[in-house]
Amino acid sequence: MTEQAISSFESMGLAAPLLRAIETLGFTQPTPVQAEAVPAAMQGGDWMVSSQTGSGKTAAFLLPVLHKIMMANGGKNSPMDLNRFVGPAALVLCPTRELAQQVAQDAIDLLESSKGVRVATVTGGMPYGKQMANLRGALVVVATPGRLLDLAQRRQIHLAEVKTLVVDEADRMLDLGFAEDLEDINHLCQHRD
Ligand code: AMP
Repeated sequence: MTEQAISSFESMGLAAPLLRAIETLGFTQPTPVQAEAVPAAMQGGDWMVSSQTGSGKTAAFLLPVLHKIMMANGGKNSPMDLNRFVGPAALVLCPTRELAQQVAQDAIDLLESSKGVRVATVTGGMPYGKQMANLRGALVVVATPGRLLDLAQRRQIHLAEVKTLVVDEADRMLDLGFAEDLEDINHLCQHRD
């Protein structure tokens, strides 16, 4: 990773609405994984990070993802124009519904000061209709692989605009037999940076 970990959220150059949310959440300084992973991921590229639950790993991947989306909007903190919406810009895959819901909630908390970025959750065991309605205008989607592929096959979600793909708990995903699904999803995210 980076040679020198950055010791404050401000010095990372995160978008202002994210810094406000971090303050509201009471995060006074980055955890070690955040200090290393956030600045590195903000530079782009592919990263594999190993960190335990409870270490702040969720914010470590969410902050660069959300920052990038805000910057793509020219740094403007304005509501999104639904007529220009094609599909999500970021996709986070989780092995279980419970984890997906937790990650989505963490993203919502970090977006509390942001007007233009909405989060949708796509998991099995939930009604299709509401999930499909929530996808409209959602720039961030947090999903389990099976239901996501199901909706993609029904053409209810368009993944070609996904610029950042995160696989949370990748080791558990592979243990649960999701390797082929992950490959299929990766192919659908054609324009990934
Ligand atoms: P995680 O490892 O993502 O499951 O995070 C564990 C808990 O740490 C969550 O409740 C987060 O809200 C919290 N957390 C994440 N980052 C920080 C931080 N920089 N300072 C204090 N708490 C944090």
